[in-house]
Order: sequence, then structure tokens, then C-alpha cells
Amino acid sequence: MTHLKSACELGLRPSAHILALKKPNSNWSEWDHKFAVAFSRLNSEMCDKCGNAIWLCRNPDSAIRFEVDTYVCYADKELSKRRKERQKKKKDLKDGEYEFVRAVPDSGVSELPTRDDYYDYIANQAKA
Ligand SMILES: [Zn+2]
Repeated sequence: MTHLKSACELGLRPSAHILALKKPNSNWSEWDHKFAVAFSRLNSEMCDKCGNAIWLCRNPDSAIRFEVDTYVCYADKELSKRRKERQKKKKDLKDGEYEFVRAVPDSGVSELPTRDDYYDYIANQAKA
């Protein structure tokens, strides 16, 4: 999905972008157009409130049920903590200064976990 999105945003032939083919700007096939139309339709039918497909989230059919879940963004949590500390000290950022957060290995760890590590963790959580 992300490859299709980036292909469409960059105006590249979706099949060439997804499959890493040469000449991504060459003539679009029928399938490239179908991919682009499908992506466009998917985007236009995604709810801007909840991110679900509108044919589900705006459908009054009682056969549809929604579950609410939560997640934690630890980077945002750390940034929020820093902002609260700064507010307590009444210390604003300097003019033109921006705050950002990045992931770094914790002390005693040499590398950050990989994407695969994260998805393995999620898969194991789902099994538990
Ligand atoms: Zn919605």
C-alpha cells in the first residue's frame, strides 16, 4: 500500500515502482491505471475522522460493530514530558527553535530494534 501511495504521489508507473523495474516513467499499462484508480478510490472512501472505510464507519447496519483500542507512541510521550517540564520552568523555546524527538538506543544497548523485531513482538502479543 505504501509503495502504491508513493508511486501515485510521485507520478510513477505503479507496477514499476512496486517491482523496482527500470524506467518507472515509461508507458503506463492497463494495470498501472487500475492500480492508480483503486488507490484513488480507496483514499477518497477513507473517513477523515476515524481512518476506516466510509462504507463501514458511516453505515448504520447493526451487523457492524466497532472495537476501540489504544496504543502508545513512546516518542510523543517523551516529547510531551519534555514540554511539561519546560512549562513548569516557564522556559520557552527560543525564536526559530524547534523541538523534535528521535529514537536512540537505551544505555547498555548498541542498536535499535529492527522493523522485523517490532512486528515479531506484535505477532507474539496477539498470540498471548
Ligand atoms: Zn469514520
